[in-house]
Amino acid sequence: MQDWEQIIIANWKMQLNVQDSVKQAKQIKKLLDKNSINAATKIVVAPSFLAFSNVAEVFQNTRVVLGAQDSFEEDKGAYTGEVSLKNLQTLGCRFVSLGHSERRALGETDEVVNRKAKAVINHGLVPVICVGEPMKERQVHNSEDFVFRQLEKSLADIHIKEKHKVIIAYEPIWAIGTGDAMDPSEVGKMIQTIKSRYKLASVIYGGSIEPDNVHEFTKLKNIEGALVGGASLDAKTFVELIKKA
Ligand code: PEP
Repeated sequence: MQDWEQIIIANWKMQLNVQDSVKQAKQIKKLLDKNSINAATKIVVAPSFLAFSNVAEVFQNTRVVLGAQDSFEEDKGAYTGEVSLKNLQTLGCRFVSLGHSERRALGETDEVVNRKAKAVINHGLVPVICVGEPMKERQVHNSEDFVFRQLEKSLADIHIKEKHKVIIAYEPIWAIGTGDAMDPSEVGKMIQTIKSRYKLASVIYGGSIEPDNVHEFTKLKNIEGALVGGASLDAKTFVELIKKA
């Protein structure tokens, strides 16, 4: 089912408390009501788990859908500290980011990402598989090999049969939260390379996207959207970014 042409995903990380998350969601809702935005743009907000149900309530009956920053693969059981995909789904979650570099830095492996991705797909949700090279790999011109190794393991035994069922977020680690976005032409090359191997995956870019540079990325051939961290933390900036995407 083709229900969007472009997707913009806001990753709020652990930046906002519950109260501020609700405030931010209400402001986004208000601004989206006032601005005309391409109907083919899917808008996803991924709040912290603590704020998830409150934010879901604000976005009820709006065009904004909920995403999770992570999830566990089991539905129920003795898994202290984990968050169930099934429960997230009940609250309206449709997209689940997996393997964000900040999670990988805390020990999340490609094998774990693969298990979680399969569970997400089995629940009828869309995994957003985050991959990207650190600066030391870029410096030795090994970015492509690094990213493909991550993708091969994270997507092992997953056969993408339809569009929009799996999203790959290419996020070079050195570009995340640094204000130093990758050159769009380089992003374009990586997107093409990923697409040539994973033809039906939707590929998006993340890394220091702002309202002023978003279109440089979204106009690239074969790109289908953006993952936005810092610029999604201010409602006005975020809606401006969506408008310019
Ligand atoms: C991210 O968190 O995935 C990200 C891309 O952050 P930022 O937009 O702040 O670089």
